[in-house]
Amino acid sequence: MNTDVFKDIKPSIKIPLKLKLFLPVSFIIIIVVTLSAIIFINLTISAYNDHIRNTLDLEVKILTKMFERESILKADKVETNLKIVNKIFYNENISFAKDSFNVKIENQNNSEIKSVWLKEFRRGSENLYNDTVFINDLEKLFGGTITIFQKFDDGFVRIATNVKKADGSSGINTYIPNNSLVSETILKGEKYYGRALVVDSWNITAYEPIYLNEEIVGILYVGIEEKDVSELNKILNTLTIGKSGFPFVMDKEGNMLMFPENQEKFENTKEIFQLFNSDKDGSIHIKSNGKNHTIKYHYFEKFQLYIAATIIKDVENKSLINKAILAAIIIGLIMILLLSILIYRFTTEKLYRYLSELRIINRKLVNAQVALKRSERLANMGQISAGIAHELNNPLGVITMYSNIVLDELEPEDPKVEDLKIIVSQAERCKNIVSGLLNFARKSKIKFSETNIEEFIKNSLKSIVVPPNVQIKFESKLKNPKLKIDYEQLMQAITNLEKNAIESMQNGGELSIKLREDGNNVEIIISDTGSGIKEEDLDKLFTPFFTTKPLGQGTGLGLPLVYGIIKMHNGKILVESNTKPENGRTGTEFKIILPGLT
Ligand code: ADP
Ligand code: MG
Repeated sequence: MNTDVFKDIKPSIKIPLKLKLFLPVSFIIIIVVTLSAIIFINLTISAYNDHIRNTLDLEVKILTKMFERESILKADKVETNLKIVNKIFYNENISFAKDSFNVKIENQNNSEIKSVWLKEFRRGSENLYNDTVFINDLEKLFGGTITIFQKFDDGFVRIATNVKKADGSSGINTYIPNNSLVSETILKGEKYYGRALVVDSWNITAYEPIYLNEEIVGILYVGIEEKDVSELNKILNTLTIGKSGFPFVMDKEGNMLMFPENQEKFENTKEIFQLFNSDKDGSIHIKSNGKNHTIKYHYFEKFQLYIAATIIKDVENKSLINKAILAAIIIGLIMILLLSILIYRFTTEKLYRYLSELRIINRKLVNAQVALKRSERLANMGQISAGIAHELNNPLGVITMYSNIVLDELEPEDPKVEDLKIIVSQAERCKNIVSGLLNFARKSKIKFSETNIEEFIKNSLKSIVVPPNVQIKFESKLKNPKLKIDYEQLMQAITNLEKNAIESMQNGGELSIKLREDGNNVEIIISDTGSGIKEEDLDKLFTPFFTTKPLGQGTGLGLPLVYGIIKMHNGKILVESNTKPENGRTGTEFKIILPGLT
């Protein structure tokens, strides 16, 4: 234990203090990093959802373009077909016969049956009503569907056609009412191109008015069936979006026209379609087969189709969340590590140093206070001791003198001789105590003289009695052994310490004196391998009259005197001691620190 006279305050909270400072800081770091990670994950998910939405959009657009392109190609073909049909049709004169005939016709949109009177429509000499030859010839030329419509008051009725109804019967006698888009366009004298439900099948179609004497009397129609649906389907099968997404196509009736073969069918197609119908473009969220679908769709006017694409939200999010969490954890850990190091370096360490300094300052303050009290006490005791010693000195001198005179006068065999001898020796002892007190109290001025401290220590060892069982060791590591000291007083201090050391080694041991340099200071280290000083005695050491020695042997004035002398030399005295063999070798070490020459 190291002490400047009094016990040190142990720095026992060293690690806990650092931890105490660091824990709240690291707690804050972890919270900040966790929050950032959560924000990061959410941002990633919303960014990815945006991305998926955009992809869905893009997919829908691509599909729409594909259909558009298909439609343009088909429209081109159908237009050419119409031109040829037109040429062939007008090769013969067309006319109407005078007579009319009655026929039952059916509205193709609502299946209403009507009875109308029609004039016989002729091409050359042939009656076009229920013609098969002309239509068959044209069908052989370029395939597809061909129809000749005849105008009547409420619309246009098919009078010759190869178009079949759903039941396989001929589409003859069905009519397009005037309020349909085709009729309206034709009545304006314009051609109509598009995709239409012709009787029961989807066709790329072209209609043009038939004129007779500049009057619209019917329609020439050609159509190509949508043969390439299967090809589009193949393309559809290869299109995927994210992990779970795929496109599909529905018609305006809500029938699924195209759906990837490798995907699970919707269990609620009707419901999906109903949500579609409300808007032309848009996106919907719906549960199907227990999965949350996000569907983007676009109504493709020309084909009257809904082109749509879907993803399963959970599938996309789950894998995404997993990745995001992993990334966040890794980034989080790295951040925590870096921040911890930074904060530890710049905050905790500084704070810790600051607190440690504070503690050291505090300890110095306590020591200074104790030292102050002690010097006060010593000063008081010094004054009292000086007074008592002075007063006792003369009577003691008289007692000694007269005892000796009486002793001289008595015969040696007188029984009082022994008693008188005791009086003389006890009076001597009293004088010793008194002279010790006078020494301690003496405020004699200090007389510095330059001294070789190595020689000085050697001389001190010569002036004490060393028992044979005590070894003396002396060692100096001084470069410059010159010091300015009061020779007599310091000699008294050092011999006091040496005597105490020897007295503590009743069973023998080693007295060692070392000289060291520490900066500008010189250290005199006097150590023994004696019994040591108990911890509770350490702070009483320098108090006058403190002694553990038996009555008559110790005065308890040695160390207070040493203390006073060292202080007068502007020095310091430290003591370390061990009384417990289990802690290592027992013994005591006094360290005197004296200012050097410069
Ligand atoms: P004294 O020697 O007359 O007892 P000191 O002031 O010299 O008075 O010493 C006070 C007490 O300090 C001693 O009684 C002893 O208990 C203790 N002491 C001093 N030096 C040593 C030492 N080197 N080893 C063990 N105890 C010591
Ligand atoms: Mg002593």
